[in-house]
Amino acid sequence: MDRMSGCGPEACRFDSYRAHMDLSTPIETIPRIGPVYQKKLKKMGIKTVRDLLYHFPHRYEDFSNLIPIAKAEPGGPFCFQGEIVEIKNIRTFRKRMMLTQVTLADKTGKLKVLWFNQPYLINTFKKGTFVCLAGKITGKDSAMYLSSPAYEKIPAFALRSLGEGGLRSKFDTTHTGRLIPVYPETEGLSSRWLRFIIKPALQELKNQMLDPLPETVRKENNFLPLQKAIWQIHFPDSLEEAKEAKKRFAFEELFILSLFVLKERLKLAREKAIAISINLDLIKEFVKSLPFKLTNAQKKSAWQILKDLSRPRPMNRLLEGDVGSGKTVVAAMAALNVAKAGYQVVFMAPTEILAKQHNKTINGILKKFNLNIGLITGKENYYKNKKISRQELLEKLKNDEIDILIGTHALIQEGIKFKNLALVIIDEQHRFGVEQRAKLIQNSEFRIQNFKIPHLLSMTATPIPRTLSLTIYGDLDLSIIDELPKGRKKIITKIVRPKDKKETYDFIRQQVKEERQVFVICPRIEPRTRAELGTGQVNQQKLSWMEVKAVKEEYEKLSKNVFPDLRVAMLHGKMKTEEKEKIMKAFKNRKIDILVSTSVVEVGVDIPNATVMIIEGSEKFGLAQLHQFRGRVGRSEYQSYCFLFTDRPGVTTNRRLRALISCENGFELAEKDLQIRGPGDFSGSRQWGIPDLAMASLTDTFLVAQAREEAKRILEKDPELKKYPLLKERVGKFRERIHLE
Ligand code: ADP
Ligand code: MG
Repeated sequence: MDRMSGCGPEACRFDSYRAHMDLSTPIETIPRIGPVYQKKLKKMGIKTVRDLLYHFPHRYEDFSNLIPIAKAEPGGPFCFQGEIVEIKNIRTFRKRMMLTQVTLADKTGKLKVLWFNQPYLINTFKKGTFVCLAGKITGKDSAMYLSSPAYEKIPAFALRSLGEGGLRSKFDTTHTGRLIPVYPETEGLSSRWLRFIIKPALQELKNQMLDPLPETVRKENNFLPLQKAIWQIHFPDSLEEAKEAKKRFAFEELFILSLFVLKERLKLAREKAIAISINLDLIKEFVKSLPFKLTNAQKKSAWQILKDLSRPRPMNRLLEGDVGSGKTVVAAMAALNVAKAGYQVVFMAPTEILAKQHNKTINGILKKFNLNIGLITGKENYYKNKKISRQELLEKLKNDEIDILIGTHALIQEGIKFKNLALVIIDEQHRFGVEQRAKLIQNSEFRIQNFKIPHLLSMTATPIPRTLSLTIYGDLDLSIIDELPKGRKKIITKIVRPKDKKETYDFIRQQVKEERQVFVICPRIEPRTRAELGTGQVNQQKLSWMEVKAVKEEYEKLSKNVFPDLRVAMLHGKMKTEEKEKIMKAFKNRKIDILVSTSVVEVGVDIPNATVMIIEGSEKFGLAQLHQFRGRVGRSEYQSYCFLFTDRPGVTTNRRLRALISCENGFELAEKDLQIRGPGDFSGSRQWGIPDLAMASLTDTFLVAQAREEAKRILEKDPELKKYPLLKERVGKFRERIHLE
């Protein structure tokens, strides 16, 4: 690793960047970041020096205890400075391991140092070099040695500052002799490498970093200034200072997030939309025509939506409802009201399977209202359930012969023009970006003629903890369906230990005999060993291949050994789309009994005949995700089951899995997830594009409120942020990456 990156202590020595650099400098122009590392950084969203410096450590290693060799004792971590007096590589007798043995000397004595399987270190530590080493001491007395320490070369003059008692070196070390930042290691980027890149950048920019936080806001709330905070968060003088710095940045992220949300809200409030009055007779007729009774939560949400539509301001409402809570029928009611008033509706879904499913459903429940419904996907187009060409469909759309157009991303392609679009419905909204939504709205010719924009209804089944929705959806209108339709049976959830697996398999056989179907989800694969983490050898690509391997193995096992007589199939992310669709279709048509899959099982897909969900390695998933998996079953009158396989009966695991057993409500579960795992881990934070630090601070309700208040105050005085160009730029950047609506 070190060899490859050129990040040996040699290179780390007091050099600084030659070229001029500021926060907006692209990482490509930093001399020591080669193409391979550029790619890795970009994958993590690090494109500029600013992004790099805002990539914060998640913890610190305390290597500040610098002592003379004579005082060495088992334990630590300790830090030593001295001269290398001997170095050799030793092959152990089993020839499996290569030991690098060094003798370190200072004025007070000599110390044995060992590294394992890093033979190239012999080129780094030539005899006579001065080094600073930090790590734990293992063994006793004469067998005592310093085990795999962190290391860096230091200049000879620095050594002289090591006085009798082992005083702190005046030379500013990077990897030893202080609190050392440890970064979340992803994409094969080691902390050591990041320190090697970040520190000189900090030194170079010491005096030219402008603080995006307005001075008044910063001073009134006692936050550290940027220059100090950024140094202290990476290379802190003490843990208290690191904490102060972290708090400042958490505030900064939350503040910018709040500004973004509030600004979007203000912008929308200035826009105009068509007011569509509520046609009560029509709504009553619709409700009466349904084969079931609406739940109270459905009625309430529908009413909120209809009220919004009747105002001349664009609606911007999110309909949150657990899987199976019946969001589609609520959306259909809004669509009906708009279509019958003479305007067009568009309904976008993230996958082809879902779009087709919606086409079928909507055609079904709106049948007696004689509306013209179209479907557009990347491959096919339908009009009133008949296949037509794309050209014909576009023609009809322009001529207002289509009332409701359902589709996939194909809806936001060139050439799609509506005559008078008034309502946009986006299903599984978290799967789309802000830009895609904007495109859909801009697409309307209607807007160009009347300067009005369509109403927007987004829907999601991803439960979001209240603290989070308060922050990111704070000023977005929210309707919640927190009640499942009557008659649904509670899904029986059980934790299954390895010894009880057989019994479960017998049970499955019984269910299949009764013509029910089964999902088996394979565990998520994570880098497990320290070695994997440390070297960063495991990247995401490799992990997903490992998942594929796990699916294949499970499939082999189940189809050959356990259920040779049943129809078993598999599904994973590396399959071609057509292949996946083929399998899903076969499963839907009951041609498959047991489907073994990675977590790719499509969100929202409805297989009512499936009654058993088995989750292998259930401890590896978050609560929200487990809940989503469970939501694939229990969609019919049959009793359904969810079996959580685990061989790790740890306390936290237990708490999590038990929460799933005791709780059926996705929103409550999301809250529990947040409590148990801590928000940093909360599944979906990546998906929303929220900075990690902001996510991690969401439990700090006070800080969240403080950030919102300050953001409001600033915007009241200066809604365009004219006086704060730095803030304006940051808020603008946010737009590119966050997925809010
Ligand atoms: P989701 O909210 O996950 O999108 P759907 O809209 O797909 O859920 O609805 C799930 C199923 O529940 C559908 O088959 C739908 O017909 C049915 N459904 C919706 N509302 C009710 C209700 N009030 N009573 C009974 N069944 C309902
Ligand atoms: Mg749905």
